[in-house]
Amino acid sequence: MERIKAAYDAERFREQGHQLVDQLADYWAQALSADPRVPVNRYRDPNEVYADWRAAYASGDLADPQRIWEKVLADSIHVHHPRYMGHQVAPPLPLAALAGLVSDSLNNGMAIYEMGQAASVIERIAVEETARLLGFDENTGGFLTSGGTLANLTALLTARAAKVTPEVWINGDQELQLGLLVSEAAHYCVDRAARIMGWGDRGITKVKTTASGQMDLRDLLEKYKQGKTEGVKYISIIGSACTTALGVFDPLDALADFAVAHELWFHIDGAHGAALALAPEYAHHIAGLTRADSVAMDYHKMLLTPTLCTGLFYRDHRESYRTFQQQADYLMEWEAADQWYNLGRRTFECTKLMLGLKVFVQLSHFGPDLWRDYVTRVCDNGRDLGRLITADPDFELATLPAANIVCFRYRASDFNLNRDELNGLNRAVRGEILQEGHFYLVQTTVNEITWLRCTLTNPFTTTEQLREMLASVREKARRLLRLRRELGQIQ
Ligand SMILES: *Cc1c(COP(=O)(O)O)cnc(C)c1O
Repeated sequence: MERIKAAYDAERFREQGHQLVDQLADYWAQALSADPRVPVNRYRDPNEVYADWRAAYASGDLADPQRIWEKVLADSIHVHHPRYMGHQVAPPLPLAALAGLVSDSLNNGMAIYEMGQAASVIERIAVEETARLLGFDENTGGFLTSGGTLANLTALLTARAAKVTPEVWINGDQELQLGLLVSEAAHYCVDRAARIMGWGDRGITKVKTTASGQMDLRDLLEKYKQGKTEGVKYISIIGSACTTALGVFDPLDALADFAVAHELWFHIDGAHGAALALAPEYAHHIAGLTRADSVAMDYHKMLLTPTLCTGLFYRDHRESYRTFQQQADYLMEWEAADQWYNLGRRTFECTKLMLGLKVFVQLSHFGPDLWRDYVTRVCDNGRDLGRLITADPDFELATLPAANIVCFRYRASDFNLNRDELNGLNRAVRGEILQEGHFYLVQTTVNEITWLRCTLTNPFTTTEQLREMLASVREKARRLLRLRRELGQIQ
């Protein structure tokens, strides 16, 4: 018992907590400073890092938590670093991180109201406020869940209950051959969701994209007709807003029209881009958002919140009660039995974190203007990087950036490279950038072309740093090309 008592010692928590907050404050200050000596990442081989941590653990050196925190900070990628331009996670606000500490400390499971009184109410307010900011009216509601992947699956389960009958929950849908329509450029989790529901290949109709990467409306109609003649019962169409790889927004208004005409559930996977609705200069990309039956949006991508924190919004909030419902007659009693406060009725999760607190504290302390400024700022950076690339004959853009995702490649136009060689060159450049750690960007391959991919999530990234990043890519590409020419690998 003595050991257990000591482990819960409140004074020790105070001391360790103060120390940790000091350490993180120093860390953030340093990461944000963009000091050229501070790398964005110290990339090392996984086996090397494993051996290193194993040895440190065995030595007893990590018995002191402060040493663990230090080592974690040193071996982690710094999303607060202005030269971080890689995957789509937000540099979380320090205040939102503190909300996480509160949530972890209280461990209110939230599946039922009693196990999260404040948490349940806060979540409702956070969702309602966000829905209004996205442009929805007071009929819209929903909940928070753990990631866009789970939100998309949940929305499709709701769609099935709404478009078929809640009884599919009991009887299954094996006889029906249900299906959905989605762009071939959609996030893979939509494909996965359809397969989890047991619809198989025939249940996922992937619509071609146009040259600019949007869902092709002509192909949509053709594929729909074709699928129907083959016996697929379509229940949903999913718009990507935006696509993960290239950051392209599907024509949402046109998809909404299509959904109405064919009585489909219109879901928008707005994991990344729904937040553009908050930024007046960029909101046109997401026009049609509020016509969706459901929208998924990751706060942890574009709204400064630690992972995972996703909103699933239903235009008519009552629909959200269908998802896991067993009987149709229950729907008659919607209003009476609504029970918004027992969140586990509607979420995939049973126990979950106090996700709403991280959102609520931002809205309540800063107000929505902070989000608007942030989204505008990072999208401005996307636009500026797009302009720099367009103006530079050494580079080629995949598509004009709509938001803060920018894909481009070094063209090597002085050399006569075939597609694979050019792809290989860009991949090699990205590999060097990762090893060097001065910038962080990623790569993606779409229609057999490899692009360097930047998500500009850091509001402190400057145009000068974007120029430096391009210069770094150019310098590496040129050096690699010279080397390959000397080795006789290319002409
Ligand atoms: C990131 C992303 C997802 C996946 O969301 P998670 O929160 O990582 O589960 C789904 N769809 C799109 C369009 C995304 O950008």
